[in-house]
Amino acid sequence: MLILGFISLLARVVLFIIGLLPFFSTFIIMKKAALLLTLCFSVYSYGQNLPKGFVYLSNIDTSIQSELRYISDNNFIGKPIEGYIHKTVIVSKPTAVALKRVQEKLAPFNLSLKIFDAYRPQQAVNHFVLWAKVLNDTLMKQQYYPNVAKTHLFSLGYIASKSGHTRGSTVDLTLIDVATGKELDMGSPYDYFGEESHPLQKNLSTIQRANRLLLRTLMISNGFKPYKNEWWHFTLKNEPFPKTYFNFPVK
Ligand SMILES: [Zn+2]
Repeated sequence: MLILGFISLLARVVLFIIGLLPFFSTFIIMKKAALLLTLCFSVYSYGQNLPKGFVYLSNIDTSIQSELRYISDNNFIGKPIEGYIHKTVIVSKPTAVALKRVQEKLAPFNLSLKIFDAYRPQQAVNHFVLWAKVLNDTLMKQQYYPNVAKTHLFSLGYIASKSGHTRGSTVDLTLIDVATGKELDMGSPYDYFGEESHPLQKNLSTIQRANRLLLRTLMISNGFKPYKNEWWHFTLKNEPFPKTYFNFPVK
């Protein structure tokens, strides 16, 4: 009797476990679904609801290339800059449309624009200003400002507490050869603080002057104005937010 009772109990336990199996599998399926949802959400959260009038450049033109220097260590500070979270280019919509027009002019020649920086949040500009005040932090001096004393970065206009980039219609960019991915020789590197970066600098080779002229001519003929101190910096003439300095992150 005792054995029969035990077998009966065992059978009930087994049946109970079998009975629970569908719940277990449902649980596993639900867990997988939750995981999938989390994954989808994290992919989605790479974007954000941009302020009205702003776009992701890749939604207007997929061929324009970029290398956002301020999200990396390769910039004049030598560390990622506040406010840059994902490698994505954000600009005002008319800026994106104008850049697309420039890109279309370059495409038949197998050339492309390459963006170094576009919309820049105010928190990034604040980061620059704080860094400029720490005079002994000269990690990238040799590469970016070998001939300018850090104490002069403000007075010479290389660092300022406001930047046109924060209004969303200013871009830093160069030209590249699509076949090789190499930047055209502009005579000085991007963000080099010095006279070598002045667009009309005389002390350049013929090729370097021609490359600067090509970028400048295309940008001006598509609605941008150049900046006298930097060959790479252009602002849309009819910028939609001429007085608004934004602070949403780049993500
Ligand atoms: Zn710039």
